[in-house]
Amino acid sequence: MAKDNVDLICDISELAGLFERSHSLSDFLQSAVSIVAYHMRAAVCSIYLYDEEEETLTLAATQGLKPEAVGNVSLKLGEGIVGAAMRDLKPICEGHGSNNPHFKRIDGIFEEHYEAFLAVPIMLRGAMRVGVLVTQDPQPNYFHQNDVKALRAIASQLAVVIENAKLLMSLHEARQQKTEPPAEVTPALAGVSFLKGTTASSGVVQGTAVVIDGHGYDVLTVAADEDETSYTLEDFTLALQESEEQLTALQKHMEERLGDVASLIFNAHLLILKDMGFSGAMKKLIDQGIPADRAISSVVNDYINLFSKSSNPRLREKVLDVKDLGHRLLRNLQRHGEDHGDYEGQILIAKELLPSDVLKFAAQKVEGIIIVQGSVTSHISILARSLRVPMVFVEKPDILEIPEGTLILIDANQGTVFLDPSEKVLAQYEALIKPEEVPPEVVQPETFTRDGTKITLHCNVNLLSDMEYARQNLAEGVGLYRSEFPFIVRDEFPSEEAQRLIYEKIFAGLPGREVTLRTLDVGGDKKLPYHQHLEEANPFLGLRAIRFSLKNPGIFKQQLRAMLRAGHNKGLRIMFPFISSVDDFLAARDMLEECKRELELEGVPYNPNPDIGPMVELPAAVEIIDELARESDFLSIGTNDLIQYLLAVDRTNESVSSLYVCHHPAVLRSVYRIVNSAINNDVDVCVCGDMALNTEMLKFLIGIGVRKISIDAQHIPRIQKFISGLHTEEARRHARKLLRYGTLREVNRFLAEEEA
Ligand code: PEP
Ligand code: MG
Repeated sequence: MAKDNVDLICDISELAGLFERSHSLSDFLQSAVSIVAYHMRAAVCSIYLYDEEEETLTLAATQGLKPEAVGNVSLKLGEGIVGAAMRDLKPICEGHGSNNPHFKRIDGIFEEHYEAFLAVPIMLRGAMRVGVLVTQDPQPNYFHQNDVKALRAIASQLAVVIENAKLLMSLHEARQQKTEPPAEVTPALAGVSFLKGTTASSGVVQGTAVVIDGHGYDVLTVAADEDETSYTLEDFTLALQESEEQLTALQKHMEERLGDVASLIFNAHLLILKDMGFSGAMKKLIDQGIPADRAISSVVNDYINLFSKSSNPRLREKVLDVKDLGHRLLRNLQRHGEDHGDYEGQILIAKELLPSDVLKFAAQKVEGIIIVQGSVTSHISILARSLRVPMVFVEKPDILEIPEGTLILIDANQGTVFLDPSEKVLAQYEALIKPEEVPPEVVQPETFTRDGTKITLHCNVNLLSDMEYARQNLAEGVGLYRSEFPFIVRDEFPSEEAQRLIYEKIFAGLPGREVTLRTLDVGGDKKLPYHQHLEEANPFLGLRAIRFSLKNPGIFKQQLRAMLRAGHNKGLRIMFPFISSVDDFLAARDMLEECKRELELEGVPYNPNPDIGPMVELPAAVEIIDELARESDFLSIGTNDLIQYLLAVDRTNESVSSLYVCHHPAVLRSVYRIVNSAINNDVDVCVCGDMALNTEMLKFLIGIGVRKISIDAQHIPRIQKFISGLHTEEARRHARKLLRYGTLREVNRFLAEEEA
C-alpha cells in the first residue's frame, strides 16, 4: 500500500487534536506512534526519550514491538542506530538495518522481523536532545527521502509537546523548595484619571482591568465575591471541566483560523491543567476545607513563584500561561456558564508580552491591551494590528498596580487611557465604542491619480488571516510577506513542508497576483525563543535578518526551497532583508541558485525564475544603490528601518520616539536617491514601510516617481481615496520643495502650511 503523502503526515492539526484527547504524556506518545505507523504504512513506530543526565534513551512508546518493552529497553548515547541518531543529531535511514555498523539487535522485543530502519532525532532549537522517533518495516529498502522529511516534520511537533511535559516534571521537583512571603503592593495612581501613551494598534474600547504581569508574588488575586459564595469541590470540578473544554475548542479554532502561527499554542495550558500536581493540589486543599477560589489562587501562585524563580528561561516564560489559566479557572468558577472564561469585557495590562502571548489573548477575546514596555514599531504592535486588538504603550509602570476590575477606557486612536472614566467621558465615547455597522468601503480594483497615473497598491501581510482583508480591499498583490511570524510564535523551527503550505496559502489568497515573500527577518527585537541567539550588546546592529540567514545556511535553504516550491507557476518575488552590501545580496542569490539546483535534481516542481531584490533599509545600501539596482529585479524600500538606521533612533524605544521622523531631510533625500536610481536603472521600486501611510509623505513619494506601494490592507480604501484626489504635478512640486530644505524646522513649517 502506498504511503500517505508528506502534506498529510505533516498536518500538525492531527497531532494537536491527539494531544487534546490524551490523558498523560505516555498516553499521547502511544497514540502518536499508532498514527505515525498508520500514515507511514510502517509495521513499527517507536519513540525513545532521552535522559540528559544519564545520557540514555529509553523506549517510551511503541506500535509493533513487544508492549512490555516500554520502559524496559534503554540505550546509551551512541549505542545502536537509535543512539547514533541521537548522538549525531542526524536521521539514519537504512534499507537493511543490520548492515549499519551501529546496529544492535535487542532480543525478545520482536525486532528481528524488521529490516528497513529509519531513526530521526527529536530535538529542540536544532540541538537540544529530546528523543528519537523510529519506524521499521519487514520490507528491505522500504523508507525513502520523503519519509525522512515527513518524520522530521513530525519529530519537530512532538518535541514541543514533550518539552512542555518535561518542564512540568521539573517543576514538581522544584516544588519541594520553600516559598517566600508575598511582597507588599501599594495602591498607585490615586487621583490619576488618564494617562497619555502611544498608539500601537488603533480602536476605542472599554473594559475592566486585568493585570497579567504585575510585580510581586501574589499575582493572581481573587476578586471579592459580592455574595461571599463558598465554592465547593463540585463547583471546582465543573470549572475544571469547562476550562478544559474551552481551551480545547480555542486550540481548534486557532488551528483553523491562524494555523500559520498558532499551532499548539494552548498546549502548555492544557498540559498544566491536566497535571495532577496542579488541579490535584487544588482538590486536596478544597478537601481540607479551603474554599475553591482560594485553593485555585494558592496553587496558581505557588506555580508562578516557582516558574518565575526557575533558572530555565523556558520555564520562566510559562508564568503568564499559568496566570492566564488561573484566571480562566476562577472566571469559570465564579461565573459558571455565563461566558467562555475568556477576556471578553476586559482590558489586559502587562509589563511586556511575547508575540505568542498577544495571539493567546486575542484568541481569548480580550478587548484591548496596555503595555508598559515596548514601542509601536515592535512586532507585538504589528501583530496586534493584524489581529485587530487595540493596543497602547504607556510609560507608567504604576498602572501595573491598578486594582483589578477598575473600569478602563482606551482611546487607542489618540493613545489615551482613561482610568475609572466619568459618566461624561463614557458618554463622549459611546458612539466610538459601539460604532454603528458601517457599510464596507467601496474600493476600485485599480488606483489612479486625478490625472490618470496608475499607482499600484499592494499589501503587507503578517498573518495568513490578513489575506481576508487583502481580498476584501482588492489589493493588487502582496508587496511584503513578513515570513518571520510563523518562526517567532512557534516553539520550534517550522519545517520546509510547513513553510511551503503557508506560502501556498498566500498565493491562493490572491490568485494570479504578484507575491513578494521576504526571507526571515529575525534578530534585533525579534528573537526566536527556541534558538540560542548570541548575547549581543547591540542586537539591532548584530546578527539580524540576512546576516542570520547566511550564518545558518540550513535554516535559510529550507526557507528558500519552500518559497521556490510554493511559487511554482506563480508570480513569485523573493526579497532579502537588511542588505548592507552587494556581496551579501550575491551570497543570498548564490544560495538561492543552489536550492534551485537541488530541487531540479530531486525532480521537485519549483519556480526556476523568481524575481529577486533587496529590501533597502540601511544607509549603506543607499550609498551603493546603483550597484545594487543593477544586480536586482526590484528594489523595495523599508522606511521603518531606514529611518531607524539613518537617524540612529531605536524604533522600539518609546523615549526617543519624538526623534523618529519620516520627514527628516536625510530620510527624504535618501528615499529620493533610491527611487531615482531605480528609475535610471529601469528597476521596479516599491515602498513597503509605514511612510506610505502618511498622506503628506505619500504625496512626496508620488512626486519623486514612486508608482507602487505596499501597505496594511485595511488602509487601502483611505489611501486610494487620497490618491484619486491628487494630481501628479502637484505632488512633484510638493516633493521638489521638500527636497530643498536642509533643516527639520523648515520641513515642519512647510508641512504645517500645507495642512492649513
Ligand atoms: C521596514 O523596515 O520598513 C519594513 C517594512 O520591515 P519591518 O517593519 O518588518 O522591519
Ligand atoms: Mg525592516
